[in-house]
Amino acid sequence: RDPTVKKPDWLRQRAPQGEKFARLRESLSELKLNTVCVEAQCPNIGECWNGGGGAGGEGDGIATATIMLLGDTCTRGCRFCAVKTSRNPAPPDPTEPENTARAIASWGVDYIVLTSVDRDDLPDGGSGHFAETVKAMKRFKPDILVECLTSDFRGDLEAVSTLVRSGLDVFAHNIETVMRLQRIVRDPRAGYGQSLSVLKHAKLCKEGMITKSSIMLGLGEKDEEVKEAMADLRAIGVDILTLGQYLQPTPLHLTVKEYVTPEKFSFWKEYGESIGFSYVASGPLVRSSYRAGELFVQNLVR
Ligand code: SF4
Ligand code: SF4
Repeated sequence: RDPTVKKPDWLRQRAPQGEKFARLRESLSELKLNTVCVEAQCPNIGECWNGGGGAGGEGDGIATATIMLLGDTCTRGCRFCAVKTSRNPAPPDPTEPENTARAIASWGVDYIVLTSVDRDDLPDGGSGHFAETVKAMKRFKPDILVECLTSDFRGDLEAVSTLVRSGLDVFAHNIETVMRLQRIVRDPRAGYGQSLSVLKHAKLCKEGMITKSSIMLGLGEKDEEVKEAMADLRAIGVDILTLGQYLQPTPLHLTVKEYVTPEKFSFWKEYGESIGFSYVASGPLVRSSYRAGELFVQNLVR
């Protein structure tokens, strides 16, 4: 981190508690499921797993968790991300879709976010593997809500269609930052236009498809640029937006330019909802899948 920018108190994490959280944590150990929530020590785990507005679990009870498919090694190297990289990661495990779906179905979570590293080495970028997992999920537990947070599939719109038509409930792809900072922040194979075209296609190729994206703040973006990115997302019908603080994972990664205040995050939530997003989750510790199930049910189902 830039030594002149001091980490503020509002980024301190709270210890998770709550009844549903405790139940999910206990049953997880038998299932061999690697959740991003646990592996990445996500600060939101109490709120997400309880399906509650607070760590005490007083929410709607729609528990959310995130699972990583297709291994832990990415073919890209974005400058904000600490995931391992390699040109040739291990091939996908063909039993993963079925086994993962079976384990999640027996686990008791209500809304599952499936995500993955980028797999530019695979002909379809891994979209078939995602689609198989979604189908198996819906077979084993028809009432589970499934969100896929995917790569851009190198802009391959066929790959996007395969996944969108698999029966998922929400298609998510993150633009990560404003247009000007794309080259600095993301791997050169990613890009603003390519990400927008993926989100646009996802919206158009299935009627009623709900789409979602995310922007990290604190990378040096200006307010006008954030507004422009939000307008670009609304122009292609993106329904849900999340905004969170960028945190430097290691000293080798991009430095934090600014710690955006909680008040400013609230401003962005109001602003985003005023320009037509169904909801905006915005806060220093908000991540793409933050309370996703609870917020989805509150804002898009009722
Ligand atoms: Fe898990 Fe995502 Fe919630 Fe973090 S924000 S606890 S990774 S579902
Ligand atoms: Fe990390 Fe995704 Fe970039 Fe890979 S593509 S380095 S997983 S942010």
